[in-house]
Amino acid sequence: MRRLAAILTGRCPRCLEGRVWRGLFAMNETCPVCGLLFEREIGYWTGAMVASYAIGIPVLALIFVAVWLVSQWDFLVVLLVADGLFFIAAPFVWRYSRIVWLHLDWVLDPVR
Ligand SMILES: [Zn+2]
Repeated sequence: MRRLAAILTGRCPRCLEGRVWRGLFAMNETCPVCGLLFEREIGYWTGAMVASYAIGIPVLALIFVAVWLVSQWDFLVVLLVADGLFFIAAPFVWRYSRIVWLHLDWVLDPVR
């Protein structure tokens, strides 16, 4: 439960306290509390692309359904509007994909 709260609030996977992000698009290189290096190796964030897909597709589907329920427009129009609205959500999907990847990687292969 503490890990889920840490993911939702963008905290470090090791100490569950330090912030991963220091701004909307700026990430801390290390945890400000425990010093964990977030980018463990070159290409580390490639795994976050999988998390981005897993988060982004349901978000896009949710936006699509919401727009369709509200508007009742044609499928193609709803799809275009939903895609446009998804660009607003994209930075948050990107941020959470990295946070989810950090926690998944930590649970599977913790750095000591
Ligand atoms: Zn930490």
